[in-house]
Amino acid sequence: MKKAFCTLLVLALALLPALGLCQEDTELSLGDLIIEEDVFYDDVPWNFPIDISDMDPEYIRLANRDVLLPKGFVPEPMMVMKSRSNGGVNKASSSEMKLHEVAGEALIEMFEAALTQDITLYLKSAYRSYQTQATMYYNRLESNNGKDDGWVTPAGASDHQTGLGCDVVPKEWRDRSMNEDMAEAEECQWMAEHCAEFGFILRYPSDKEEITEINYEPWHLRYVGKEVAAYIMDNGLCLEEFHAQLQAAIDEFIAAGGKASLVEDFIQVSAENE
Ligand SMILES: [Zn+2]
Repeated sequence: MKKAFCTLLVLALALLPALGLCQEDTELSLGDLIIEEDVFYDDVPWNFPIDISDMDPEYIRLANRDVLLPKGFVPEPMMVMKSRSNGGVNKASSSEMKLHEVAGEALIEMFEAALTQDITLYLKSAYRSYQTQATMYYNRLESNNGKDDGWVTPAGASDHQTGLGCDVVPKEWRDRSMNEDMAEAEECQWMAEHCAEFGFILRYPSDKEEITEINYEPWHLRYVGKEVAAYIMDNGLCLEEFHAQLQAAIDEFIAAGGKASLVEDFIQVSAENE
């Protein structure tokens, strides 16, 4: 009842100027009122910190050992990442690197913002196809006595196949094999602090290894969109935890009579390999 009243009040106040009812000496303004704005879809409350319309199912898509991407999944549209004189793409990399356009544009914006702070960032690895990942996984097992050490994910489970995940490194790490000491570098500290402003999260945080089943990777960024990134980074979550919370909100929404069609694209279903 209270929620409905508050929402009505917000609505009424928002309409005041439009109706010409706003007087100059009015003592009421939205800024003076502490109102928690509730979001409803067809009168059903959406109890999640992020509005449905501020999330894109494609950008928050999971890829891990439980939720595999199909063999034929190729993100689109993709863009080729170009090397620049100062930072950009790792020049030591011989192959062309591609990212989903939305992630590529956001990454360029982030690299440019970093440069203004004398932070030079390099893209070391971007989109990887299902097949490339399968080869990498095979090679890793070969060189590790057949043991999966958590450094390379099986085909379909790689965040790189989404086209939204990438490895970004400081200059001195361009040709080195990556390990968690990289987190000490000022470039990585800058990324951890600022990546969310550009829609990225640290996909594999140090304290979430048991959930992600991937070792800490201070270099692996994942584009999820600005609202989701801010929420995840502010609350110290990993993408799996975010989805668990979102799933609970979806269940609650549907149980309260919410339209399934509004939220069904957000439900992560383990895909069958083709
Ligand atoms: Zn990576």
